[in-house]
Amino acid sequence: MSTYHAPLADMQFVMNDLAGLSQVAALPGYEEATPDTVAAILEEAGKFAREVLDPLNFSGDREGSKLMPDGSVKTPAGFKAAYQQFIDNGWNGLTKSPDYGGQGLPHLVATAVEEMWHAANMAFDLCPLLTDGAVAAIELCGTPAQKARYLPSMVSGRWTGTMNLTEPQAGSDLAAVRTRAVPQDDGTYKLHGQKIFITYGEQDYTENIVHLVLARTPDAPEGVKGISLFLVPKFLVNDDGSLGARNDVRCVSLEHKLGIHASPTAVLAYGDHGGAVGYLIGEANRGLEYMFIMMNQARFSVGMEGVGLSERAYQRAVAYARERVQGRAVGAETAQKAGTIIEHPDIRRMLMTMRAYTEAMRAIGYVTAAAIDNAQRAPDATARRQHQAFVDLLIPIVKGWCTETGQEVTSIGVQVHGGMGFIEETGAAQYYRDARITTIYEGTTGIQANDLVGRKTARDAGATARLVAAQIGKVAAHLASHPDATLNAIGLRLAAANAALDNAIDWMVRTYEANPRNALAGAVPYLKMWGIVVGGWQMARAAKIAVDKLEHGNGDTDFLRAKLATARFYAESLLPQAEANAEAVVNGSPTVLALPASQF
Ligand SMILES: Cc1cc2nc3c(=O)[nH]c(=O)nc-3n(C[C@H](O)[C@H](O)[C@H](O)COP(=O)(O)OP(=O)(O)OC[C@H]3O[C@@H](n4cnc5c(N)ncnc54)[C@H](O)[C@@H]3O)c2cc1C
Repeated sequence: MSTYHAPLADMQFVMNDLAGLSQVAALPGYEEATPDTVAAILEEAGKFAREVLDPLNFSGDREGSKLMPDGSVKTPAGFKAAYQQFIDNGWNGLTKSPDYGGQGLPHLVATAVEEMWHAANMAFDLCPLLTDGAVAAIELCGTPAQKARYLPSMVSGRWTGTMNLTEPQAGSDLAAVRTRAVPQDDGTYKLHGQKIFITYGEQDYTENIVHLVLARTPDAPEGVKGISLFLVPKFLVNDDGSLGARNDVRCVSLEHKLGIHASPTAVLAYGDHGGAVGYLIGEANRGLEYMFIMMNQARFSVGMEGVGLSERAYQRAVAYARERVQGRAVGAETAQKAGTIIEHPDIRRMLMTMRAYTEAMRAIGYVTAAAIDNAQRAPDATARRQHQAFVDLLIPIVKGWCTETGQEVTSIGVQVHGGMGFIEETGAAQYYRDARITTIYEGTTGIQANDLVGRKTARDAGATARLVAAQIGKVAAHLASHPDATLNAIGLRLAAANAALDNAIDWMVRTYEANPRNALAGAVPYLKMWGIVVGGWQMARAAKIAVDKLEHGNGDTDFLRAKLATARFYAESLLPQAEANAEAVVNGSPTVLALPASQF
């Protein structure tokens, strides 16, 4: 069994050198995020992840959460105590406003911390993750009274939050939501309906749960324009903040799943006994718009789940590869007859692939997190708009690509273990199973890709996409003419991949207008290409910084040399996939759509 160690050196490098922590710390309100404070936070979070969360991951998977006969839920042994410790240590609401008891830290810092929770115990972290999203929605759209009543307890973690969108007939298509919200004389609503797949919809961590629920009022227009957002607490809250009557929302079953067994996925029945009391959030019929606030945050966090799981799978694979003795590797570094499998070139290829993908994903995630901070706090309005446009483009890429890649990396992790990877006791299989949900919830990869094509590329006629591609092109051109051989090799490959991206953007903009069906047939390869190229861009930037630091003797030489080698591996072995994906985007759609549905 390997123990999780937060990759602090890489986290610090990416934060400081790629994502620009010092610039983020200069934004109003973030002055306390000094390098020393941030280093101390990461150190402590790494300790909590290693000592408290990681040891519960395997047992939590084995035991799972259980529905009790009285409708309560029992989470696996140790989870409730870990949650208490988590909130006592102040890990909940890291980015939330100090007005409600939050720490007010930049998203950049919280993203690194969150990566550790995902790596150590993703099923545990889903609870704070969804609470965070619910807090964001109430903070932005709630009334002052709603904020005062709910936010302090949710930010502290004394109460948790959930997100209730999905119904049996309404998954990707939320226009089909049917839960009814009937207005009452006192200004409240009574909700009736069923929500399925609700993460932590019931749990034994806290005394109250605040559900955010999408529903329709009786006179609402059809489709997405008729959906409103309601706050439905499990226990009603009295004026003095104490808990009142039990509300009419109940967990009627828990799903049996492929992974994240410790996370209770609930079917919730609203209004079986007269109606669940709900409070409208914001204006009627704007619920989906508000829910997107929660979803964008949650989509980004789910993308980071891909990063955390990849890191954890990588660490476990390395530990196994160092121990497992099998065969004698050709030209091995050690001369014994039988060596550990880490000596085999193909094992090295797998470990390098896992490592390079993980570092690239981390870089994309942190750079996007820094842009979120800038989009919210930069003093200049134009700068805020530009950062927001970058964030909007990157969110489906972080969600879609980091989770698809997370699946690939955790699958390679199983492969490194050979047969033992398929056997549960090594733990490698759990990461693979847990990763499988990440490409589905918070919008499947197909939905992310549609968003990237329709709203993020075609809507502004490719303006933002081309701007980002131009930035990538600049880095590529600079490195391609650099005297350093490694940077030169990286620059040439990045330039080729970026040319393919440019071409695909042009094709997408043209085709989406003329024939959106053909454009969407290439949406997922388009998203993957973006992920691969943006990852290559960040790895190229990292390589340049590593070369500069090595030249000036500034930093840990082993770390910087390894970064350089990993960036070159990425450019030479992974980045060329961009051109293959571009081919699928530009030429693939006729055959994707060649057969009539009846022929499948
Ligand atoms: C473990 C777990 C936890 C979850 N947690 C929550 C939660 O806390 N709250 C909540 O509200 N929901 C939650 N969900 C629900 C989750 O968000 C949905 O499962 C997801 O959005 C997909 O919806 P669906 O399952 O109905 O699939 P469908 O929408 O039926 O999709 C089936 C397939 O069709 C594709 N598809 C559908 N529409 C399109 C389209 N327009 N273009 C291209 N392809 C399309 C999809 O990509 C997918 O491959 C959870 C689900 C699971 C399994």
